[in-house]
Amino acid sequence: MTAQQESRVHEREKKLLAPYAMFSANSKGRVHPEQEHAYRGPFQRDRDRILHSSAYRRLSGKMQVFTGEMGDYHRTRLTHTQEVATIARTIGRALSLNEDLIEALALLHDIGHPPYGHCGEDALNECGADVGGFSHNQFGLTIVQEIEIRFHEFPGLNLTHEALMGQLCRVDKELKGQTPLLEVQLVDAADSTTYDAHDTDDAIKLGLVSIEEMKHLTLIKDSLSFVRENFTNLNDDLLRKALVHRLLNFQVTCLLSHCAAELKQYQFQSAEEAMASDFRLGHATEIEQQKEELEKFLYHRVYRHPKLVEIRNQAQARVQQMFATYCRRPELFPEKYQARARQIGTPRMAVEYIAGMTDKFFEETFHRTHTADG
Ligand code: MG
Repeated sequence: MTAQQESRVHEREKKLLAPYAMFSANSKGRVHPEQEHAYRGPFQRDRDRILHSSAYRRLSGKMQVFTGEMGDYHRTRLTHTQEVATIARTIGRALSLNEDLIEALALLHDIGHPPYGHCGEDALNECGADVGGFSHNQFGLTIVQEIEIRFHEFPGLNLTHEALMGQLCRVDKELKGQTPLLEVQLVDAADSTTYDAHDTDDAIKLGLVSIEEMKHLTLIKDSLSFVRENFTNLNDDLLRKALVHRLLNFQVTCLLSHCAAELKQYQFQSAEEAMASDFRLGHATEIEQQKEELEKFLYHRVYRHPKLVEIRNQAQARVQQMFATYCRRPELFPEKYQARARQIGTPRMAVEYIAGMTDKFFEETFHRTHTADG
């Protein structure tokens, strides 16, 4: 990047970002130094590298909460990720944070999810207990640092220090002395804001719960009163959509007004100053409690719904069988994974290989290997 181009990126950020944002010019750079791009800043390049990775594309075949057999309306891991990115950018722009970094972090945040969502994760964590267990947040880091191949000279995507640290903070939320950047905290808040709204939408649409059964929850009750005051004669479908729209808009608006007021008081002059303070970018306590109430309901009535428990049990049993099969027969790993299998050991490779699969590929591989195995 010429000095003129560099200053163009920096000038743009100086005009648009608040002093507490993460500026590209202050990035600690990449493990493998690279020439700057002619017209894309470092966090834009991070975002693009994640977007073009195979692990990112595979999110389209990974379930969020509901499987592909349950219909085609509900969110996949990919559409969830896109919703998080959109909501996070909306809030980030309003707070004058670095949108490029926010988008990169949002696209990255669920990239390490295994097939079958959290039940796949639990099963893999049990199977791999002797070799470090499994966490989708940690695996997201492994993917972008070791597994994705983009460059001839080294493995991984060579993301900036800030993007990697953002994901590392997701792995260990209690990293000693490592309060995340505001952009990282924002993506975390946007994640729960997004799934509270879209899981409500999907669960009602799938008929697992009704609005009637949820109307005692404060967030739902308040959103319903707003909808009824502002709209009349809504059919069931439009009522659900209006409710979810309000639920999302209400959470985002509350988060924005709460954080904007606090940030105004603190008057941070740099990202470091914000990180060193006790300020945390998130919902006000009252809204946090209302979200917890909704999340508890979703946990018991939706995530633990008999239909999902049945899918969960079958998926967990199959993950365990697949793990055992690969441990017994490492020759089943595709050729391109054999070198890594020798390097990290067969059980770890089995965990990683299964974790990389989409739900459909997992099912196909399960049936193929278990026919061949028998
Ligand atoms: Mg997520």
